[in-house]
Amino acid sequence: SQLDLQDFCSEIIKGSKISAKYRNINITSIIPEIDFEIFSDENLLRHILDNLLTNAVKYSPPGSTVHFELKLTEEFIIFSIQDWGIGIPNQEQQQLFQPFYRASNIGMIPGTGLGLSIVAKCVDALQGEIEFDSQVDLGTIFIVKLPLIKV
Ligand code: ATP
Ligand code: MG
Repeated sequence: SQLDLQDFCSEIIKGSKISAKYRNINITSIIPEIDFEIFSDENLLRHILDNLLTNAVKYSPPGSTVHFELKLTEEFIIFSIQDWGIGIPNQEQQQLFQPFYRASNIGMIPGTGLGLSIVAKCVDALQGEIEFDSQVDLGTIFIVKLPLIKV
């Protein structure tokens, strides 16, 4: 579908802010002005961003911040979702995208371990790439890079 990426991201952030509020987590964002529309799959895109934002909020302590950023280059759309939460133990990071995998430091935080495996499939379907960097007790950043198709 044809998308106004700026509006689309604002709408996603707005939705996440509602659930983040319950945990007293603030979502900040940097979204540039974009004067063209893009071609992408709205549902896949929504799934990717919703899941990553939900995780960032869920695995962060109350009072902390989650930061969303959108960047565009000539060829790529780059989303980053950063948190200052519990992080992911180094030796477990390889398994993160496997279905049902949950890290050992999650305590009582509920989940099924499926979100990221689906995100990985959605990113694949859009011919993009996903990577992350994380440190226990410091936080996590996920970066999604998708090909930019201008309409
Ligand atoms: P759900 O299926 O409801 O999303 P989940 O959140 O446990 O459950 P995933 O989203 O697939 O499953 O994430 C897998 C695991 O990766 C999580 O259980 C958690 O251990 C770790 N994880 C994911 N995102 C983060 C994050 N932002 N900070 C810390 N750990 C994370
Ligand atoms: Mg999840």
